[in-house]
Amino acid sequence: MDQQDGRRGLLARWIAESQRIVFFGGAGVSTESGIPDFRGAKGFYHQDREIPLEQVLSIDFFTVNPQAYWEWFAQENAREGVAPNAAHRFVADLERAGKLSAVVTQNIDGLHQQAGSERVLELHGNWSRLTCTGCGERLSLSDVDDARSGAVPHCPACASILRPDIVFYGEMLDGDVIEGSVQAIAQADLLIVAGTSLVVHPAAGLIDYYTGERLVLMNATPTPYDSRADLIVREPVGQVFQELERLGQRP
Ligand code: NAD
Ligand code: ZN
Repeated sequence: MDQQDGRRGLLARWIAESQRIVFFGGAGVSTESGIPDFRGAKGFYHQDREIPLEQVLSIDFFTVNPQAYWEWFAQENAREGVAPNAAHRFVADLERAGKLSAVVTQNIDGLHQQAGSERVLELHGNWSRLTCTGCGERLSLSDVDDARSGAVPHCPACASILRPDIVFYGEMLDGDVIEGSVQAIAQADLLIVAGTSLVVHPAAGLIDYYTGERLVLMNATPTPYDSRADLIVREPVGQVFQELERLGQRP
C-alpha cells in the first residue's frame, strides 16, 4: 500500500465512523466540473483581462459598471457540460445517509444542490438568484430572458437593474448563514475542507470553530491551515471521491 492509498483508506475510515460530517468547500471543488477557480494553476486570476476580476466582483465597481459583471457571467455560463462531479455526488449521498450535517461552501455555482444536497450554506451566495436593485423583487435566472446574453438584465416589475445574489467584495456575509456554518462546524465530528486556498476571510476563519481531531484538508497546493490538519490530501478532490465511490465506499 502506498502513501496515497493509505491516506485514502484513512479518509474512508473516518467517513465511515462519523455521524456529523461537515464538508467545507471552495472553488477547487468545481474545477473538475469545468468551472475555473481563482487562485489555482488555471484560475481566473491568471487570465488576461481588461478589467481585473477582483474589480468586476467588487460592489463599488458593480454599482457604476454592472455591465462588466453581466458580461463575465454570460461568458462563464456559455461553458458546455458543466455538471456536478464525484465530490458533489458523494457529499449528497452522505447527507441522504444521515451522516452529514451541512455543506458549507464558498462557491456560488449551485452544483451541490444540483447533485442533491439540501442543507447547503452558501457563504458567498448564488449567481442563479437575482434581486432587483430598485424594488427588491427576488427572481431566478430562469425568470429573466436576457440574463445570459451579456446585457444588463432589468426588473420586469420596475425596470431597475438586477443584481446577482452573490456577496461582492466589499459586502457583508449573511449573518444567518455564518451562524449556521459556525454551529455545524462546532458540532462536527469530521471536518473535510476541500478545494480552497483559505485566504478569503471571514470564510477561512470558520475552520477555527472546529474542535475535533479529524480535520481533513484536501487541496492541490499548501494553505495557511496545513499545520492544523490531521490529514492532508493533495490529489484532485473529484478523483479522490470517485475512487472512494469505485471502491464501494459509498455512504
Ligand atoms: P481559490 O481559487 O482561492 O482556491 C482554490 C484552491 O483549490 C487552490 O488552492 C487550488 O490549488 C485548489 N484546487 C483547484 N482545483 C482543485 C482540485 N480539483 N482538487 C484539489 N484542489 C484543487 O478558491 P476559494 O478559496 O474558494 O476562494 C475564491 C473565491 O472565489 C470564493 O469566495 C468563491 O466564492 C469564488 N469562486 C467561486 C467559484 C465557483 O462557484 N465555482 C469559482 C471561482 C471562484
Ligand atoms: Zn424592480
